[in-house]
Amino acid sequence: MIWGELEDKLAALDQEQQLRRRRIVDSPCGTRLTVDGPSDTHELLAFCSNDYLGLANDPQIVAALCAGAQRWGAGSGAAHAVSGHLRPHQQLEEALAQFVGLPRALLFSTGFMANLGIVPALVGRGDAVFADRLNHASLIDAALASGAEHKRYAHKDIEALDKLLKLSSAKRKLILTDSVFSMDGDIAPLDKLYALAETHDAWLVIDDAHGFGVLGTHGCGSLSHFNLLASPRIIYMGTLGKAAGVAGAFVAGDATVIEWLQQRSRTAIFTTAHPPAVSCALLKSLELIAAGAARRKHLHALIAQLRQELAPLALQHGWQLTDSQMPIQPLIVGSNRNALELSAVLEAQGIWVPAIRPPTVPQGSARLRICLSAAHSEADVAALITALEKCA
Ligand SMILES: *Cc1c(COP(=O)(O)O)cnc(C)c1O
Repeated sequence: MIWGELEDKLAALDQEQQLRRRRIVDSPCGTRLTVDGPSDTHELLAFCSNDYLGLANDPQIVAALCAGAQRWGAGSGAAHAVSGHLRPHQQLEEALAQFVGLPRALLFSTGFMANLGIVPALVGRGDAVFADRLNHASLIDAALASGAEHKRYAHKDIEALDKLLKLSSAKRKLILTDSVFSMDGDIAPLDKLYALAETHDAWLVIDDAHGFGVLGTHGCGSLSHFNLLASPRIIYMGTLGKAAGVAGAFVAGDATVIEWLQQRSRTAIFTTAHPPAVSCALLKSLELIAAGAARRKHLHALIAQLRQELAPLALQHGWQLTDSQMPIQPLIVGSNRNALELSAVLEAQGIWVPAIRPPTVPQGSARLRICLSAAHSEADVAALITALEKCA
């Protein structure tokens, strides 16, 4: 039978400790999660989510979501291009453009769909995409889906990228990068990438999934962090399910470029607009992000605390930290087995830190991905350190 092969493949994945097992969480997103354990239900102190500002269960956002559903109903009923573009969607697009300082924005239902829509709308056969090796899976798929030549450069290696661009005879060139790398937490040199884009007349597509809400003045993202001014060649993608705490994504840029994407991004056209209440919730979330200086300050204090206390432990056990100054703080332990064991020992102490294995990260760099949130306290970070000390 055609499906017999799948059983063998699943068994092989299991053998390599690459099966992903989903946990069922019986509480809202937060730092304390109620999780179905194998024997009983228990509460864990969690360092898993991308809810960097602690907004996912914010009462004001939840209220805006409920009020939005009362006013606008549950579903949008159609794609934006047909009749699904309701007033809250329009208001959100305008607010997002203003927030990131670009002329226009376009909503997508998820960040994955945004990336899959943007890249193939801009480049195709005869063109080339230049991509950082550690880019997010959605950017890799977007480059492949475009049919353009897919050139990958070593992580953040500006000279290597410059060489590739010089040698390329592609008609159109597109540089594609995460701003904050999702598994390492380090930041791409966007200023240098932009300079190369200028030199080689290329697009620069920036995936700010982990920067939006956290980096820059008022949390308005990585462009502000680097003082990059609006340019028609900069295409900015932000996601709304991480620091913004809700769901969805958007692309922002020059008005003509965004008009083109609205006309030509297949994942924007052939899909139902997200529920209008989601836009209502996001309008409230944007307000809280803009007024979130105290949350960001607390988050950065937690990052500093964690890094300081983790450094000697890592040295002692041969674990590696990255140079991340962001809430993503990986503890690289090497083998899949080590990562899974460490994660399990932490869980036995009531702490949930996910183990991340290949192919999400390169072979031999399995890790615990510690994710901090402004909703954590100093005591939470201290508890994580104490538990890690016991893991030795
Ligand atoms: C999470 C993520 C995405 C996908 O965004 P979703 O809204 O979750 O689909 C895209 N790019 C990066 C870098 C991400 O981390």
